Amino acid sequence: MDLQFNVSASGSEEPVNEGRPDVENVIIIGSGPAGLTAGLYAARATLNPLLLTGNDYGGQVSLTYEIENYPGFPEGISGPELVEKMKEQAEKFGTQVEYDHVTELVLDQHPFLVRTASGKEYATKSLILCTGARPRYLEVPGEKELTGRGVSYCATCDGFFFRDQEVIVVGGGDSALEEGLFLTKFAKRVRIVHRRDKLRASKILQERAFANPKIEFVWNTVVTAINPGEDGKVASVSTRNTVTGEEGELKTDGVFIFIGHIPNNDLFVGKLDMDEDGHLIVDRKMRTNVPGVFAAGEIMDKVFKQVATSVGQGTSAAMQTERFLADMEAEGYPGVHVDPREAPVELCRLMETA
Ligand code: NAP
Repeated sequence: MDLQFNVSASGSEEPVNEGRPDVENVIIIGSGPAGLTAGLYAARATLNPLLLTGNDYGGQVSLTYEIENYPGFPEGISGPELVEKMKEQAEKFGTQVEYDHVTELVLDQHPFLVRTASGKEYATKSLILCTGARPRYLEVPGEKELTGRGVSYCATCDGFFFRDQEVIVVGGGDSALEEGLFLTKFAKRVRIVHRRDKLRASKILQERAFANPKIEFVWNTVVTAINPGEDGKVASVSTRNTVTGEEGELKTDGVFIFIGHIPNNDLFVGKLDMDEDGHLIVDRKMRTNVPGVFAAGEIMDKVFKQVATSVGQGTSAAMQTERFLADMEAEGYPGVHVDPREAPVELCRLMETA
């Protein structure tokens, strides 16, 4: 493809990205299962993809102690090990994985520009956005101050520090139960505080949690504050019963919070269409509202959020990107557009047929 343009936003020097083409075919942003799988498929399609990992290499799955429901691993596999295998497979076929964090995207011109924390600037014909999600905060007094001093969002990372201690888990979904079960390996008592009297978690996890003698449930209860002891670490939580309004206090050494996730969409605000919860809106071909920009994984998925579904979405996004680039190659690049919401007619037409 013969693209003529000045890649530098300032209009001055060309960016120097050693060993990389002047214009990338595709840049994948994010190194969780969706991103690494998109890398694998894009590499096998000979697109020579560049994958920028972001600050949280491997995404949320790398914080998961054991994954039992990813097909092909009947004995289960640890999150970090699965991420390593996915990376190895993507690299084997030619994905270049760069440990860099994207700070800015320019989507109102084509090729798009990607700027990173290390000061690099890349131009690219297409993008696959796989930036995932991060834990939701309780937003109660004491939470921020006591994070790392007894408040945690990762049982795999911090569970070990609570050997023979008491911990509280907040939440009633799969994460709360799965992580609560994991914490029983260390803690002597795990109390799961849930705001209703019914769990959202899957049946199998509920059964396991109910059968575990170290786990107790505190129903219809919200945590209203997290309180420090004299040593500056978590000593208790203040609670309120959601039915009776009664206030109380539970003594504890640790508070693990698993109340859902927020999509990592900072880079896309005002540039790409999102739903009311901040997930990127894509069609069934993983296309955002800007032609050439695709998304996969938890940045666009508010329903399934499984490693297996993220992998499938990453696959679809890469296959669609390949078709987009092939069509551009065949029909000729339609030219620079200025407003992503008013992409050139030709490009829209290409997207329709892709
Ligand atoms: P989730 O399913 O959205 O559950 C969040 C839980 O936190 C809910 O029980 C919710 O209560 C509670 N909650 C939300 N905001 C709260 C607040 N401000 N105060 C107190 N409680 C609050 O989130 P998740 O457990 O992180 O799971 C996310 C997705 O990942 C789900 O699709 C899940 O199936 C999947 N996942 C799967 C596995 C697995 O298959 N092994 C493991 C982990 C996660 P309500 O129930 O009252 O809304």
